[in-house]
Amino acid sequence: MKRKTPTEPDEDSQSTLESWRLLFESDVYKNDLDALPGNGDPVFGFEVEWDDLAEYDGLQVKFSENMSSTLFCGNQVLKEQYTDRNMSTRPVIRVINLPDNRAYEVSELRMRDRTRLLTFDGVVVSTSPIIGWLKTSVHKCNDCDSKWSVEERLARPREKVKYCRTCLDIILSNMDAKKPKSYHKEPTDISMVAEENYYEDVQYLEIVSPLMLENGMAENGESFQVVVFDEYVGQYAKGDCLTINAVVAVDPLINRDFIRDTRRMIFLRAHSVEEGLSNHVEVEEDSSEEESLS
Ligand SMILES: [Zn+2]
Repeated sequence: MKRKTPTEPDEDSQSTLESWRLLFESDVYKNDLDALPGNGDPVFGFEVEWDDLAEYDGLQVKFSENMSSTLFCGNQVLKEQYTDRNMSTRPVIRVINLPDNRAYEVSELRMRDRTRLLTFDGVVVSTSPIIGWLKTSVHKCNDCDSKWSVEERLARPREKVKYCRTCLDIILSNMDAKKPKSYHKEPTDISMVAEENYYEDVQYLEIVSPLMLENGMAENGESFQVVVFDEYVGQYAKGDCLTINAVVAVDPLINRDFIRDTRRMIFLRAHSVEEGLSNHVEVEEDSSEEESLS
């Protein structure tokens, strides 16, 4: 639960913010930004080269070790850059061109790979409808008018919000007082502020790897699910060949109460998507092509 009082970013975040600032103010990225990319779009994926991260005070290490908070800082700085250029677009950092040592065959993923950011070659076999999911819900207390937001989780039941923290804190601190009040209103009189809830578009893509096409797994109907966000939603169609830079995630099967059932489903949470395959080398076809050319 987010408290109402804003807090100063801690030391780590300060240095991360500073590194991103240096990156976006470097010649290359400053020029990119001066071209006002995505101007007029509600959301725009701003591409940053993986290798460039290494040049700004350990940003690459930070990104590897703590991707979401590093991106959170970066997106904040990038948004400032857009605002400075009078653009209302919401930019999102998309790190691209991940190194070879992160290239991975999707059908060889294991549970131990969860949370890793890896890069996959994929061919789209089907796409889901576009789904709006509740990303952030907003709640308010009907007694004290406190308002707070809750970050929801994708494909999970909504977080339960049971009481107002402010009212509860007052009750708790009053219990320590010398003369506690005998009566308090229940801190549970809260409601959701539906019009301030934030929804995000997502889409699920079913993909297979080129290897799965060759070895018959694809023919058997096996595929992997990729979830894409924001500007990637609605962009792809069956047959598209993509390089997908994604965090490996695990979705429990439908009945999560089955504690002893350890079967779980791996899916990919896309961070960035590049057109075309990057890692797949079609050895045989390449050589036959060369032969026919010569
Ligand atoms: Zn309250």
